[in-house]
Amino acid sequence: MSIQDRLRAVQDQLADACARAGRDPAEVGLVAVSKTHPPEDIRQALAAGQVDFGENYAQELRDKAERLSDVALNWHYIGRLQSNKAKYIAPHAMRVHALEEVRHAEALASRAPGPLKCLVSVHTGDEDTKGGVPPDQVLDRCHALGQVDGIEIVGLMTLPPYLDDPEDVAPHFERLARLAEDGRAQGLALTELSMGMSHDFHVAVRYGATWVRVGTAIFGAREGGPWRA
Ligand SMILES: *Cc1c(COP(=O)(O)O)cnc(C)c1O
Repeated sequence: MSIQDRLRAVQDQLADACARAGRDPAEVGLVAVSKTHPPEDIRQALAAGQVDFGENYAQELRDKAERLSDVALNWHYIGRLQSNKAKYIAPHAMRVHALEEVRHAEALASRAPGPLKCLVSVHTGDEDTKGGVPPDQVLDRCHALGQVDGIEIVGLMTLPPYLDDPEDVAPHFERLARLAEDGRAQGLALTELSMGMSHDFHVAVRYGATWVRVGTAIFGAREGGPWRA
């Protein structure tokens, strides 16, 4: 199957999931996770109408943004952060999905051309969950991160473990949605929920995802490391 065919299949599944959840499809953005795949693959997805793309590796994002500077698209940085890599991310990203540390927020803000919208990564599960701020600390952290000039905290993100039955991931999504609700009650502007990947995005939609991050189902299996210009 071509990238365009796979993308259409994912768009259809997303529309179905929205319909079943009684949600407006316009509320749920599809981030096509293009990490490790070359810029030509991104051009194919762009030609099929995809505009949001997610990258995990800072230099790979920078290299692709330079290579694709002739087209209009939205870059989402969905990987872990390091202060010394902020310079590769901040000039290009329209969202950063996995912010955790104030020092990373400061590094991003100092390199961003304008206010940068970020989501805070939450450790929604047990040890198997990758990264994220513990749930009992996350709202305080959101307040602290929101104090950084140039950083706007707009939501929460989770990266749960892969579980064979996607329904088993539901508690993670539910926990994230509830935390955002608690945050809104405290005056935080947590309107965005980044949750759900190829395997489980249909479940995440049911729990209120506003960004689903889908790689494999669109671009195929990943081989090797980051793409390099
Ligand atoms: C790679 C990745 C994805 C996409 O995963 P697929 O299973 O390929 O859809 C989503 N989110 C994050 C944070 C990732 O690293």
